[in-house]
Amino acid sequence: MTTVELERKAVEIRMGIIDLVHASQVGHVGGALSSCDILTALYYQIMDVNSCDRTNPERDRFVLSKGHCVEGYYCILADKGFIEKEELASFCQFGTRLIAHPDRRVPGMEINTGALGHGLSAACGMAKAAKMLRRKSRVFVMMGDGEQGEGSIWEAAMFASNYCLDNLYGILDRNRLQISGPTEEVMRLEPLKEKWTAFGFHVEEIDGNDMEQIIDVFARLAEIQGKPKLILANTIKGKGVSFMEDQTKWHHGGLDDHLYQVARNELLEELRGLENG
Ligand SMILES: [Mg+2]
Repeated sequence: MTTVELERKAVEIRMGIIDLVHASQVGHVGGALSSCDILTALYYQIMDVNSCDRTNPERDRFVLSKGHCVEGYYCILADKGFIEKEELASFCQFGTRLIAHPDRRVPGMEINTGALGHGLSAACGMAKAAKMLRRKSRVFVMMGDGEQGEGSIWEAAMFASNYCLDNLYGILDRNRLQISGPTEEVMRLEPLKEKWTAFGFHVEEIDGNDMEQIIDVFARLAEIQGKPKLILANTIKGKGVSFMEDQTKWHHGGLDDHLYQVARNELLEELRGLENG
């Protein structure tokens, strides 16, 4: 896909996110929106994985370590044919398998996540196994910035560099907010780039809401050998919906009919702009 096609797709996925949050009246909408561009790039351009061949052992793996931001993930899996689009209506309803966090019962999901700090460890295991079995699979793991306060992240980081897991791509959704406020007030994280570098990662910092930068960074990282990789993706929580952007309160919440229409109209306008541009 071209960059503008990917940008359009990301807006469509954002519209799917607000549809889910409006219909269910729950959802971690802010972080789903901040990470949406990278998730779109991964599934529509970067990763070698598809619904027809979803158990191929050579496939790339994705782990949503910040598992609470699952809404965009479901929308993408439905759009890519892993699940039926009609099933999205069951999101967070009684008896559904589309619960509020990733679950392996959902085709295309590799691992249950949600308890923060575990995704990188699991991804390290997948990456190490791929190397031992001489498979070409790469492992992509999306972490939150609030999640960086979990000690298990840093244990996994040591493991990744110790075993030179250059098939491991960590992505840090650096939206600077977590459930209880700005990360630097809750638990100071900076200097993050230096920390990840010190732990043996090749680190690239980008604007994680800029599709061109996202595509470029994955191309650059493909050339790096012998080290695990970390994309420090500066993003905006609630990206794409003006009243949600950079607002802690939109970490989690439902959308009433009025706010849903405002959000939907903004995204429609953005989509039209991309179609005309
Ligand atoms: Mg955050």
